[in-house]
Amino acid sequence: MFKERTGLVLALLALPILADRAAAVEYRTLNFLIDAPSTEVARQVGEAAERYRKDLSRKWLGKEMPTWDKPCPLRVTVNLGGSGGATSFVFDNGQVLERRMHIEGTLDRLLASVLPHEVTHTVFAFHFCHPVPRWADEGGAVLCEDQRERGRHEGLIHRIVRDGRMIPLRRLLELSQYPSDVMALYVEGYSLTQFLVGKRDRKVFLAFVKEGSEGDWDTALKTHYGYDKVEDLETAWLAHLRQLERARADARTRLSSRHARPLLCALRERPPVPVQPPENLPD
Ligand SMILES: [Zn+2]
Repeated sequence: MFKERTGLVLALLALPILADRAAAVEYRTLNFLIDAPSTEVARQVGEAAERYRKDLSRKWLGKEMPTWDKPCPLRVTVNLGGSGGATSFVFDNGQVLERRMHIEGTLDRLLASVLPHEVTHTVFAFHFCHPVPRWADEGGAVLCEDQRERGRHEGLIHRIVRDGRMIPLRRLLELSQYPSDVMALYVEGYSLTQFLVGKRDRKVFLAFVKEGSEGDWDTALKTHYGYDKVEDLETAWLAHLRQLERARADARTRLSSRHARPLLCALRERPPVPVQPPENLPD
């Protein structure tokens, strides 16, 4: 989510968050300790977080993650502004020692979009046991958001490529920190993840990221997807994007001609208007 990428946004939000603290309540589930503005919000977020934790770990890993040894603190800020979240981890010796989550936005966006995004980060942290390459971490997390958020990213990718903002895949795969154009990382990361998961499945995708992040992306690509090198993947992915863009344009044309046809028929079939002599016209 966008607020993960900038300390500035979190700092700017510090004031309203502090003001909320006095009224905050705590709510405990098996794996989360929720700090929210009301018991009802805490309960809804807690139940959804547990449900996403179960469903998303099954989806990605084929099994449920074991219960965490200590609950993940989950701070909830409900507001009417933009939504976002941040999850941080402490890794040590191939283990996740600590996890901490903060989400904010309208309650419906938190439940439908921000929460599954952040919970996916906990699934990836558990699986990889070390920081995950940024593109894959964010790409996989956006893939688990609702259709509204995924659709927004799908619209943006064409603009990013057209505007020359695209980060070459060779560089994108290697990024361990957020680049200055954070949106390009999120949008490209999601698009590439969707492309690769669509080619095989989530299990193969995770195996590819694990192998690539440990050494050689070219070899990992050859093993799991059959491309000789990252540049070949880039060519195939860009061709896929062009195909998608053409399909979107065709769909728009079909839609507009469908709307136009009844109007033309209506115009053709409208009975002629009888010509009335003007009455009482001023001289
Ligand atoms: Zn994220």
